[in-house]
Amino acid sequence: MMELNVLNRPSTVNLMISVEKEKIIRIMFGASVRSGELTSITTLTNLDIATERVKAIPALEQCSQNPQRRSSFCTNNWGHCSESIPLGAMHGTRKRPATLYCRTIYLKFGAMSVIPPCAKCSQVMSSMMDMGIVTIYQLQSIQL
Ligand SMILES: [Zn+2]
Repeated sequence: MMELNVLNRPSTVNLMISVEKEKIIRIMFGASVRSGELTSITTLTNLDIATERVKAIPALEQCSQNPQRRSSFCTNNWGHCSESIPLGAMHGTRKRPATLYCRTIYLKFGAMSVIPPCAKCSQVMSSMMDMGIVTIYQLQSIQL
């Protein structure tokens, strides 16, 4: 169901395309955490949802326990971002790294723009590349 109030919708959505031998294998979507109009209760609910994502995604949990300096300055909670769910889908029993093309779209205030991953998501993506789970390319240069 679509939230009618634009301010209560997720701030970002993410699209990740998994490619193998020049063919699209999987298309994944994610949304940033937003559980309704921001109140003290929904802020806690948002944090709970993000925390559950962290517990479910090993690279996210590992990075949250060992944040890089620049990640400490990012105001998003670990697990809050729209990239979390597609990245989490990459954990498993793959024999070789998945190749992903990633695009995050900022939706707030009725305008859409492509944005780079935040410092925390960048750390998680780098960690997953270091672990040999994925190779990620950003799709920021392609116009919407
Ligand atoms: Zn992020």
